Amino acid sequence: MERAAVQHTAENLERAPAPLRYEAEKESPAAERRFNLRSFYLLGTRVDNIDGEAARAIVSHYVEKNSGRLRKIFFTNVHSICVAQRNHVLKHCINLGDLVLADGSGLKIGSSIMGHSIVENLNGTDFTPAILKIAEERGWSVYLLGAKSYVVERCCMLLLLTYPRLRIVGFREGYFKPEEEKAIVEEINAKHPDILLVALGTPQQEIWSIRHAYELNAKVCMAVGGLFDFLSLTRKRAPMWLRKIGLEWLYRFIQEPKAKWDRVVIEIPMFLSIIFAKRFFPKRLQKIIKGIVFS
Ligand code: UDP
Repeated sequence: MERAAVQHTAENLERAPAPLRYEAEKESPAAERRFNLRSFYLLGTRVDNIDGEAARAIVSHYVEKNSGRLRKIFFTNVHSICVAQRNHVLKHCINLGDLVLADGSGLKIGSSIMGHSIVENLNGTDFTPAILKIAEERGWSVYLLGAKSYVVERCCMLLLLTYPRLRIVGFREGYFKPEEEKAIVEEINAKHPDILLVALGTPQQEIWSIRHAYELNAKVCMAVGGLFDFLSLTRKRAPMWLRKIGLEWLYRFIQEPKAKWDRVVIEIPMFLSIIFAKRFFPKRLQKIIKGIVFS
């Protein structure tokens, strides 16, 4: 299998030079220069630091120069990095993504403390509609998997109002038992979408995408978190001015304090303390701090 040649151990993967990880670059060395790919690891989780235009070009490349295997697009943010500190399966799954985009102001702050300047915040909620617009223009087909049944259904209806020529070939809710997964994969394969949107939340969506990567008959799979809730208008997005100053997370916390409190009260301080320790403290002290924070 093609992927077997680039299978890495967890450690190797984290050390792998960027070009190894991009089929796009391997297929065409000029693509590397064209896309200006820059990657780094933040607490062991990969971040591909590129702008929206380059990311859209890569996704288009993946759909149109179909290599016969599923390309996985993930979004790294403070929440996924914190979950990945304990859940190493998630960390490895994210790092196996074909494109891992930088999502959120927390990640931007953490990255800049570590000396990496994020060129653009590419969260799934803004980036995916841009891809759907291209999908409508170029006739790519889309399948939606995730969220509650009425949410994904409403999401499809509203998407068709915004993008009337978008080819939605199927949708399914995201609450299922493990024994139903085979039938879900079969249903998706019968529709062979160009783009599969997986909205199961972190870590399920990343792990699900990697687990089924070899059996899914789709070109690109994007793990999009709460996107269907927003697109279906069942969850309100923060006003633009809050988004612009990087406080969307605060709005989500105020909206759903019970569901999101741990992200604000635990994960943000956890993330920042580890980042500060990594940046300013000697290695031995870093390990002690990490042990305390994640014990
Ligand atoms: N979800 C799902 N199946 C599950 C758990 C969650 O389809 O078993 C959906 C949930 O309805 C919501 C999305 O996954 O639409 C998760 O949204 P959230 O904003 O929490 O995503 P995250 O920030 O964790 O990526």
